[in-house]
Amino acid sequence: MQIATRSEELPIVQPDTHVVPSVAPGWCSVRGFERMSLSDWPGHTVFVLFIGGCNLRCPTCHNADLAWRHTTLPRIRQSAVHELVAKRKRWYDGIVVSGGEPTSYADLPLLLRDLKSTGLPVKVDTNGMRPDMVEILFHANLADAFFVDVKGPFEKYPQLTGNGVTADQAEANISRVFKLARTAPERFQFRTTMVPLLTDDDIATVRRLLPEGFTLTTQQYREPARRTHAKTDQET
Ligand code: SF4
Repeated sequence: MQIATRSEELPIVQPDTHVVPSVAPGWCSVRGFERMSLSDWPGHTVFVLFIGGCNLRCPTCHNADLAWRHTTLPRIRQSAVHELVAKRKRWYDGIVVSGGEPTSYADLPLLLRDLKSTGLPVKVDTNGMRPDMVEILFHANLADAFFVDVKGPFEKYPQLTGNGVTADQAEANISRVFKLARTAPERFQFRTTMVPLLTDDDIATVRRLLPEGFTLTTQQYREPARRTHAKTDQET
């Protein structure tokens, strides 16, 4: 992912340390965007928005600034995004909302309602650890698709997420998402990033966890460009 950094490209409001009365509802935590992506929603050409903040602390995280220090990043202005999307709308098949962890942002429903006003379908990326928010978005039809990261077997969640959740919490949360997915399989996809801590047996375990009829997409893990804060036990 990219976070816009060049001042001429940034629809900046101003840093988070100031009161910004002009920020549109739902746009407070929007901290990055990508004008066009062919890989974030297979088969779709999409505009991507990145939401700051995350409820986990994965030591393999690629987006540490966005996940844990997002208030240091500039906000992205609503009007600028709408202008960009309107200008190229005929090229887009959808909008992807990624992060960070979008579902940890309380005003996500407001943002998605705004994005849906473009007429484009919206996909949300999530780690599945806020099933309450996934349920809200699902039932309100605020997201057309959910791509859910299943980090690994439940017993490895504490290690995989920097103790962000226990194994029991991970199982309870993902099970709620699975239950929802069974009711509308066309709206859910599940994927696992093959981080160094995971073995082939772990991937096989995750495949068996999925509800019947779903296939697991695996993604190769790439070492983050900048990471000095943490490593998994297997890497040290
Ligand atoms: S869930 Fe994603 S964004 Fe959050 S810490 Fe883990 S890898 Fe980073």
